[in-house]
Amino acid sequence: MLAECSPVILVINCGSSTLKYQLYTTDLKVVTAKGLISKIGEDGSRVEHAAHGSKHVRVMPVPDHHTAFTAMIDRLIDPEVGVIKDISEVTAVGHRAVHGADTFVKSSVINDEVIAKLEECVPLAPLHNPPNLVGIVEARKLLPDVPQVVVFDTAFHQTMPEYAHVYALPYELYSEHRIRRYGFHGTSCRFVNQRAADMLGRPVDELKMVICHLGNGVTIDAIENGRSVDTSIGFATFSGVMMGTRSGDVDPGLIFYLNKQLGMSLGDIEAMLYKRSGLLGVSGISNDMREVEERAEGGCERCELALEMFAYMTRKYIGSYAAALGGLDALVFTAGIGENSPSMRARICEKLGFLGIAIDSDANEAPGDDGRISTRASRTAAMVVPTDEEKMIAIDTLRLTEKARAAAA
Ligand code: AMP
Repeated sequence: MLAECSPVILVINCGSSTLKYQLYTTDLKVVTAKGLISKIGEDGSRVEHAAHGSKHVRVMPVPDHHTAFTAMIDRLIDPEVGVIKDISEVTAVGHRAVHGADTFVKSSVINDEVIAKLEECVPLAPLHNPPNLVGIVEARKLLPDVPQVVVFDTAFHQTMPEYAHVYALPYELYSEHRIRRYGFHGTSCRFVNQRAADMLGRPVDELKMVICHLGNGVTIDAIENGRSVDTSIGFATFSGVMMGTRSGDVDPGLIFYLNKQLGMSLGDIEAMLYKRSGLLGVSGISNDMREVEERAEGGCERCELALEMFAYMTRKYIGSYAAALGGLDALVFTAGIGENSPSMRARICEKLGFLGIAIDSDANEAPGDDGRISTRASRTAAMVVPTDEEKMIAIDTLRLTEKARAAAA
């Protein structure tokens, strides 16, 4: 049952209770196996593994990340469902890390120094970076001789100019405490930026582009000549457009009001802004766009309001970023909602004619290989470009490990 092409790059995305993995061939054209281990350290842990065109699910105790890594390797080398004979066939590992602060401006080959610097970034992403680090430590234990690379969600946005990333707060908070706009979903934006340029047949360094990464999390990103110049998510992960359960932009004054007038604790307010707001908070029904759209069709007024708000907030960012860029060559939709909801794309683009965007409703319903959803006459291209963060991690991992090998030779 072993795959014919030899897989070499293992991409790992380690969360607090999940481990996602993908195995790529050398040419990065084929994903030979992928999997998701969920509910690590909880009841009902599951190991889902897909290879050879079928999916295998096993419910088994996975008390910690070490067990999760062992389960992943067992699956990968299993004579029936595996794709390699021995784990030594893995020649490089790529890891996702959420926060690289202003320390990491690009992906890095992992060594002890990189790990120490990544640990220094933990206070900036206390929920995300620790599990990312656990993944790196476990992978290094299990594959000590295999080069490993870390790719940061924040790194792509490190090109934002100072006037876009400094908040108008006392300057010492920036200079001494690193409080600034960082931005997230950078790995997705970088992949989509390059891919959109390829699909347009134009060099990436000649394009002004706004990318709408519309998924459970939402990032709108302004990109000039391949460099991120502004992005909607800032310091933590809830500013910008409303998301599945996160509020997006609100006046910070409301935090004081909720605390002083309604007696809510800071913890209550934080939980509300992160977990009970956004699509869920407004609709009262769901954080899932599909469900909100279905219920709106069925007459649910609050669902309709949530959809209008989502479209309006996104459109406002597109307009402001077109102004920040001083023009726009391409508007690109990606991620779960951006790729799959023609009706949300149409709502967002409704009033964007002033930017030279004219949507072709047939193409919007079923975008072709060129991703175009705008008419031929449209001055600005509107496109749908599927994101692939894992592929971007695999590309960086291959590039950096080959460079390191060449330097050592
Ligand atoms: P992501 O975080 O990129 O996986 O995106 C998740 C979001 O995409 C959820 O809100 C889903 O409801 C939404 N989504 C996925 N497929 C569709 C679809 N066909 N129509 C509308 N929304 C979708």
